[in-house]
Amino acid sequence: MNILVCIRQGRDGEINPFDACAYEAALQIPNAEVTILSMGPEKTKDFLLGLTRLGAQRAILLTDKAFAGADTLATAYALALAAKKINPDLIFCGRQTLEGDTAQVGPMLAVKVGYSLITNVLEIVSLGDSITCKTRYKETEVAHLPALITVERINQLRRPSIRSRIGTVEIWNSDTILADKNRCGLTGSPTRVIKTYENESGKRKCTFVSPADLQKIIQDSLHKKEIKIKTYGETFDKLKKVFIVGSEPMSFAKTISDDITVLEKTDENTITEIIKKERPSAVLWASDIWSKRTAAKVAAILDLGLCADCTMLESDGKKLIMYRPALSGSIIAKIESLTAPTMATVRTNDENIKDIFVTAGYGVKDSLPQIKDFANKIGAELGATRKAVDNNILPYDMQIGLTGKTVSPPVYIAIGVSGAVHHIVGMQRSGTVIAINPDRDAPIFEYADYGILANFEDIYKQL
Ligand SMILES: Cc1cc2nc3c(=O)[nH]c(=O)nc-3n(C[C@H](O)[C@H](O)[C@H](O)COP(=O)(O)OP(=O)(O)OC[C@H]3O[C@@H](n4cnc5c(N)ncnc54)[C@H](O)[C@@H]3O)c2cc1C
Repeated sequence: MNILVCIRQGRDGEINPFDACAYEAALQIPNAEVTILSMGPEKTKDFLLGLTRLGAQRAILLTDKAFAGADTLATAYALALAAKKINPDLIFCGRQTLEGDTAQVGPMLAVKVGYSLITNVLEIVSLGDSITCKTRYKETEVAHLPALITVERINQLRRPSIRSRIGTVEIWNSDTILADKNRCGLTGSPTRVIKTYENESGKRKCTFVSPADLQKIIQDSLHKKEIKIKTYGETFDKLKKVFIVGSEPMSFAKTISDDITVLEKTDENTITEIIKKERPSAVLWASDIWSKRTAAKVAAILDLGLCADCTMLESDGKKLIMYRPALSGSIIAKIESLTAPTMATVRTNDENIKDIFVTAGYGVKDSLPQIKDFANKIGAELGATRKAVDNNILPYDMQIGLTGKTVSPPVYIAIGVSGAVHHIVGMQRSGTVIAINPDRDAPIFEYADYGILANFEDIYKQL
């Protein structure tokens, strides 16, 4: 069994955490011949050499000036040419990179190499002529080989043993894989970043109050549903013929067009044929697992740019401009697409939530029964930060933020939440934000209208 693992070096010099899990999963397959492949600058060679000590039989670095500045489609193009040359039975990718956060390269690569695909793998259940996996969206999913899987954070990458040997790294360039340079790197990338802004959109002026004021603030806030958020884009003229896949992106679509058609959530080939025939000016998708995966496949089939996780759209009647959080939410990037139709996944709100939301952070990890009781008493729905989820305090489907859900209830109460930008992007459109935290310097207070400076447990009985 030949397994190719695609690996990216993160900005911190370390292996992208999802890729680390993909590598470990490949190393755990009995009798597998594992090849690791990375696209990056020449200095990536030392990083790959270090990784050969863990057990890969072969390591390949794809490096060429022509590859620089590649978006997800241009990355998938180059990786696919290399993968075809290696011809593995299986390709393992991490679910996404921490920097890009798009989860597009895996599905796009599967299309480009013509492999079947399973994304968001939590466990490999069996492997033979086909691979059966437990995934984040389905109990078991089966794919015939050759197949590509994208792996969630499911394991810990092994450390090298003292006796382990360093292997060698083969250097491949655009000629080695017979790449068309016009389809590589920045030149071959259909999406372009026009400008970036510091992400300050959720910031508010916080008034510190006593616990006794909380009930009144909640009641008053339930009636004013205004959203206090700084906006960047503005639609001057609307676009003609915009398609949305499923009804979830409707509120986004309405900001850029009055001519909206809802497509059924069906397979990628059917949607591709409709797009080819109808030629809409834009296609918008939701940001659930199915939508992100299918949008990436359609983009790869049609060689279209795809902008992920847009939080705002604007149009001048001819062109769609997309805004999305980047670099883990610290900046907002303004993006255009050079191909038509423009395709984007948008961060849709979870509409089916109660008016009051209580999010439990890691700070209240030992007080979950009290948090649940408090939420219950005020008729609130419960959410969680990623740190609370990663530590198994609450389940993933409750996670709010960049890699979780987006919510905008009239009242959002953050308890034991520090206020990382990754969390903020998932709740910043809420009506009134109230934070309970004993640390006055916690960033959450910069994004809250009201703050209570206290340990939750100390005030729980008064609430
Ligand atoms: C690519 C990427 C994506 C991410 N996506 C998400 C995401 O979608 N959602 C998300 O939430 N995070 C996400 N994160 C993680 C994020 O960066 C933070 O690490 C996380 O949000 C912190 O969680 P926390 O606030 O619960 O914990 P901490 O940062 O540990 O904060 C705990 C807070 O609790 C306070 N506290 C302590 N004791 C008490 C008490 N008794 N009562 C009240 N308060 C108390 C402390 O003062 C502290 O401010 C992501 C990170 C990365 C790199």
